[in-house]
Amino acid sequence: MSDSKIQRRQILKGALLSAAGVTILKSERSEAAEMVKLTESDPTAAALGYHTNAKTVDVKQFSTYKPTQSCSSCVQLQAGTGNDRGCNLFPGKLVNVNGWCKVWVLKPQ
Ligand code: SF4
Repeated sequence: MSDSKIQRRQILKGALLSAAGVTILKSERSEAAEMVKLTESDPTAAALGYHTNAKTVDVKQFSTYKPTQSCSSCVQLQAGTGNDRGCNLFPGKLVNVNGWCKVWVLKPQ
């Protein structure tokens, strides 16, 4: 096989991999764009005592809450960047990384 055929194959292979990568990134972005912020008045959120800001949690009402707990350290928070991210308990919704709910579980270190 000639060198020019090998180079063309390598270029084509690289272009296909790049296109696949762009498609995956666009798919992830459109999923995030379709998600809406979870509100404290959402029925499931209210049932689980979700607060968008953990510092506002009433410790008398939620005795399991500790000041060191927030969504950012919870095992249910999905990977990502920014203050609003997916949570395994609230499909299609974004929780605030500074929030909290009563099923918080420490993410393994
Ligand atoms: S399960 Fe964890 S990440 Fe999800 S809202 Fe509750 S504390 Fe936040």
